[in-house]
Order: sequence, then structure tokens, then C-alpha cells
Amino acid sequence: MQRISITVDVEQDCPPLLESMRGVEEGLPRLLELFKEERIRATFFVTGRVAELYPGIIEEIVEQEHELGCHGYAHERYDRLGLRQAEKAIGRATEILSCFDDGLVSFRAPNLKFPARFLRLLEAEGYLADSSIAKYKPPFSRGTVTAGKIIRVPVSVTSSLLRLPLRFVLPLLSRIRDPVLFVHPWEFVDLQNEKVRLDCKYNTGSGALRNLRQLIRYFKSRGYMFATIRDMAGLP
Ligand SMILES: [Zn+2]
Repeated sequence: MQRISITVDVEQDCPPLLESMRGVEEGLPRLLELFKEERIRATFFVTGRVAELYPGIIEEIVEQEHELGCHGYAHERYDRLGLRQAEKAIGRATEILSCFDDGLVSFRAPNLKFPARFLRLLEAEGYLADSSIAKYKPPFSRGTVTAGKIIRVPVSVTSSLLRLPLRFVLPLLSRIRDPVLFVHPWEFVDLQNEKVRLDCKYNTGSGALRNLRQLIRYFKSRGYMFATIRDMAGLP
């Protein structure tokens, strides 16, 4: 059976350009509602900071049986941190997120940038899967790869692509085996009048939500199973 994974990186709006949390406050409830209506499971990679500020919505993610994963503490760039700083940030985020789910296994670094030398920090915190690599970024991983105890699951396409007209997007995604997609809650809030990069604001808000709903229905109608990152990594 073909599988598809929808993942959500839960963070401040369009980092590092904005500091607002409209995505968490307005976009995240819309996503949870959509997934509930469509009866699908997703993986939510949440920053420790968002979990501290909005515990109620993180509880809802777990209650609805989605997978909770870690997206660092304050959306820091791991490729710019030293080992000790990285260890501290991952430790702090893990401690906070473990209060909501004590079986965390999946991690994704902000900006999909996570030096391989830090993978042992994930192992030490008990993670088993890392989704910080992409098929479209060097080293262009084509499928899951194992690094020590960690299974690395690459994302297939960048998030802003999913806001383009679906007549372009769906044929492209249909050609990918087991696509792993990612979105952000702030994409489901209208940011079209914000002074941010075009890819951060293009078709955000109701257009993005409509696209995602149609995309889910398209893959459902083709018999795809909606998998979490834990599933994609083959973990029990
Ligand atoms: Zn992020």
C-alpha cells in the first residue's frame, strides 16, 4: 500500500522574520479540525517554547492521537550551534515535550539543518527517528537511511510548494514513493499583507487550507495510508 506522511512544524510565525504566534493561535486549530474531519493522523514537530506557552493545544494534538515530535527549543539553527549549546536546547525541549508524551521518538531540526555529528545527542535523549533531511537539499537523500540507532526520514518537497495550484502539485507528488510533506500552522493564517518573503506569504490562509484539504482527499481517493514519521521509520 502507498503511504503519505503529513507533518506540521509548530513554531513562531515564519521564523526568523516574525515573532508573532498567529499560526499557533489561529492556524493550528484549523489544522487539527481538518485532520479530525478527514480522519487522518499526522506528526507535529513542536518547539519546546510553543509547548510552554500553549500547553492546551499540545494536549489536544496528543489526545487526537497524532504523533508529537520535537522541533528544538526556540527554533534555533543547529548548524550554527556548538555541541554543548545543541545538547542544552535539545535537552530542554525534550524535557518540556515529554510532559505531554513520554514516548517521543521523532525529531526535526529547524530549517532542515542538523549536523550529523549531533545525531548522538538525539540517541542520548531516546529519539529513534530524525526528519531533518530533504530529498531536495544536499546530500539529496532519496529514502530512509540509518545512522547509528537513528533512522533518518527525508522530507520530499518544500512546504510553500503545496500552496501552488494543485494541478501542478498533485502530478508531481504522485510520482514520489511514500511522500513526506510538511506544513506550518502560520501558512493557514492570512499573511499576504505582511512584510515577509513571497514564499512565506503566497496563498497563505484559506487558500492554503483548501489546497491541503483537496490534497488529503486526492490521496485518500487513491487508497494511500496516512502515516506518521514513526510509521515511515518502521518503528513499532
Ligand atoms: Zn521550523
